[in-house]
Amino acid sequence: MKVRITSLNPTEIATELGLQPFQGRQVFRWLHQKHVFDFEAMTDLSKELRKELAERAMTSQLTLAHLSTSARSFGTRKALFRLEDGETVEAVLIRDRDRATICLSTQVGCAVKCAFCATGMSGYTRNLNPGEIVEQALYLLKEEGIEDGHPNIVYMGMGEPFRNYDATVRSVRLLMARQGLGIGARRITVSTVGEVPGIRQFAEEGWQIRLSISLHAANNALRSKLVPINRKYPLETLMSAVRDYVNATRRHVTFEWALLNDVNDSPRDAAELAELVSDLQATVNLIPYNPIPEAGFAPPPFAKCEAFRDALLKRSVNTTLRKERGQDINAACGQLRRQLLSA
Ligand code: SF4
Repeated sequence: MKVRITSLNPTEIATELGLQPFQGRQVFRWLHQKHVFDFEAMTDLSKELRKELAERAMTSQLTLAHLSTSARSFGTRKALFRLEDGETVEAVLIRDRDRATICLSTQVGCAVKCAFCATGMSGYTRNLNPGEIVEQALYLLKEEGIEDGHPNIVYMGMGEPFRNYDATVRSVRLLMARQGLGIGARRITVSTVGEVPGIRQFAEEGWQIRLSISLHAANNALRSKLVPINRKYPLETLMSAVRDYVNATRRHVTFEWALLNDVNDSPRDAAELAELVSDLQATVNLIPYNPIPEAGFAPPPFAKCEAFRDALLKRSVNTTLRKERGQDINAACGQLRRQLLSA
């Protein structure tokens, strides 16, 4: 069986394939810095070695099945990747002036089944391996011709990253490797819907990666309806783990809040949210909901979104109100894949 080298670091590539350490680093640089997946094009390797690698190793596990560009949000591109077994996952690239942000998926589908989410509605199929996660970023950087090598990475695509903990953490390490992209920990955000054991384990990794919590409700009754994992890890348990993460890493934390019309957008919701996060160094990101027909939710009118933001700001909560990006290309997680599955 061929060795899948996009899941490996330079030392592991050398060990697995019986190469010299410097050759492991060369191969890793081709993949991660130059985004070259064809061994034949790795021209600083000898012809014999290239031939041997092609016989014994494989680089790419995913192929680009579809790429959409948003007409309204210039610079937002959404890719649907086909995996080796025919499954599909999505990744998004957002370019804002000279900054690129790449949003990665960690699972095919998701078992958490949040009430408003297209991915949750498609059900869970399987975890991605580290190479499949990393390749999403490498492909988008290549496709977009992004050379600076220092994009922001957010684990906010399909799946709950902490339900695929080991592959997520390994992919983070590969993206941070200085022989490759060398992305700084502070440029990486991992978003969880509240998988508490994962948050606690992540706090022990000894790095300064930003944690983002998809909160969406600040009382247990509503949150358990919107985000079923709340029944297992209610807000008290979740917030205690978040506080410990902040204390361990000294990192500011972010809370994501999808604004759903007449569901979680009232002045009372804002007051509860402000109360919940008041003792944390935190930012709340408000995102007007990107509707999917089956879910039965809608975004509030924009004036209501602004009023919600202002209610938080008045209570001294650092708050941003995100403009919808890429609604016309189904940029909310899992929508493109779901459309394709039901076609
Ligand atoms: S919002 Fe995230 S955790 Fe919830 S179902 Fe969708 S992918 Fe899973």
